[in-house]
Amino acid sequence: MIDEEIKCPECGGNLVFWKEYLVTKTRNISKNGTLSKRVKTTTPDHIIGMEGFQCNQCKWLFNTVDGIEKMDKYPHLMDWIEEHECELKV
Ligand SMILES: [Zn+2]
Repeated sequence: MIDEEIKCPECGGNLVFWKEYLVTKTRNISKNGTLSKRVKTTTPDHIIGMEGFQCNQCKWLFNTVDGIEKMDKYPHLMDWIEEHECELKV
């Protein structure tokens, strides 16, 4: 278990966990230039590393890709991710 509270280090507000996915939508075009109404959508694909925390109140943002210094500063948040890995998998 993690001892430290999972809250915003700036204002103490509640955090959300966010995760970005890449989706491609394709539509056929006939030779006369008509665009089909049917849209094919790929299964959402998680963009590696594009995930992290954000504060609901002050919008403090922690991205696990570019937040290297924050990963060192707030190891309990990284522990939280590890603990919830299964739940965070979509
Ligand atoms: Zn905050």
